[in-house]
Amino acid sequence: MSNQFIVTITPPTPNGDLHIGHIAGPYMAADVFTRAQRLQGMQCYLVSYSDDYQSYLTRKALELGVDGAQLAHENSVKIQQSLRMVGIEVDHWLESHGNPHFEWAAKMLYERGQASGLIRSAQTQAPYCEHCQVWGYEGFARGNCNHCGASSDASQCEACAMAPDAAKMTDLKCILCHAPMTMRPVQRQFLAFDRVADALRARLAAAPMRGQLRRWLDAAFEKGLGDWGVTRPGESGLKLYDDEAHRLHTWFMGQAGYLAALKELSERDEAADAYALLSSADTRMVNFLGMDCSYSHVLAYPAQVLGDPAFKFSQAFFTNAFLKLNGEDFSTSRGHAIWVRDLVRDACADSVRFYVSLIAPEEQTGNFSVDDFWAWRRRVFDTVLPHIYRQLAQERATPPACLAAFERGVAQRWLQCASVEQFSMKGMAEQLMVLVDAIQGELSSGKVRRELLVLFAVLCGPTMPGLGKALAGHVDDDERTACLAELGLIPAQKEACHG
Ligand SMILES: [Zn+2]
Ligand SMILES: [Zn+2]
Repeated sequence: MSNQFIVTITPPTPNGDLHIGHIAGPYMAADVFTRAQRLQGMQCYLVSYSDDYQSYLTRKALELGVDGAQLAHENSVKIQQSLRMVGIEVDHWLESHGNPHFEWAAKMLYERGQASGLIRSAQTQAPYCEHCQVWGYEGFARGNCNHCGASSDASQCEACAMAPDAAKMTDLKCILCHAPMTMRPVQRQFLAFDRVADALRARLAAAPMRGQLRRWLDAAFEKGLGDWGVTRPGESGLKLYDDEAHRLHTWFMGQAGYLAALKELSERDEAADAYALLSSADTRMVNFLGMDCSYSHVLAYPAQVLGDPAFKFSQAFFTNAFLKLNGEDFSTSRGHAIWVRDLVRDACADSVRFYVSLIAPEEQTGNFSVDDFWAWRRRVFDTVLPHIYRQLAQERATPPACLAAFERGVAQRWLQCASVEQFSMKGMAEQLMVLVDAIQGELSSGKVRRELLVLFAVLCGPTMPGLGKALAGHVDDDERTACLAELGLIPAQKEACHG
């Protein structure tokens, strides 16, 4: 059984700040998961990094006429500020540009892949704009995905999550000048999925994931996985050995980024055994990612460590779909977005976290309605929660009363949603709302049972850390102990509660 967790968030492209759509995906889910495991006494490290070698960052820097590394650093600082403002506490955040740990990890995985035969060289055709002299591997070209027909770059399709084959895409055009891309011969390195397909499938069969991802994976294996290009000569990426032929693109290096962050954390803090956890069979790496990042995270990264005795950890994958804003796609270029820092300033971190959890697009597209948010906030944060706070501050029961069947049912469902097997921050938030509604119902009769309030105070922390901390001050140690023991989170003590 896993009792140690490495939790990862897909690295954001540092070409701007974070909006609500971002945190409704992997960011908050990873934080809620981490807090929920810690509440249950598990060891957890949450890491992420800024995706400084992204092709879209290179394009943005070119369009703005600024230095890419400088732009990445400035936005990385902003992103970290936004995360802190909304209570997402990352144990270590790595900036990947020019980072020796990052380079070491990427090189290690690349060289191991070559030594084992997982990575092989092939002559191929890649899209190129003769006019702008840019390659169309990702950020500089767009056409129609050869798998599903949707508009896509040649790297990974947001609609079907597959890696398109540039040579088979239609209408592939340069983003800068809109001219059709021409195909140029180029020698590249490829990850050969056919060499590990059976072992990979077996590893993934044992990994917890949601239905949407499981179905996608089954379809991908049925169709057969082709070779996946891992170098992009002449484009964005990390140049190994001062050699353009071994320039690794960013999607190959995601897992390297997580390993590097753990390594950097271990060196910065000697008490942290973060990197050593990777070689323990009791460790599970839990990757939080958008569904569109599945090809790299769920296929390529497990393939990179298959059969490697240095890495004994198992995996779990939690994907999300997209969030809409007032029914439309987020668009930072059209200004159709709500920035995390603005909403937290106008509302508060806890209300943003609770509401975003309730509407999280875990299996399908979700929608953030500004009016609905404020109406919900008035009911819950201006009416019910202040009552909970005031009533908890009043007299205690000695010894505390046991949980009734209703509270036990809520707690069991909450624990299921907080587990690595079936994690759902949405499910956890829904159970908190069941408690809020029950408390509101009892309020109308004048007196709320204290055990109901104590249970809410104990369970609300992962979703609303600020409130959890404030309420904890009004819950006695013996009440808290009794509640945790009843939930099976700590060993039961004799007569912890009575009723
Ligand atoms: Zn597609
Ligand atoms: Zn062009």
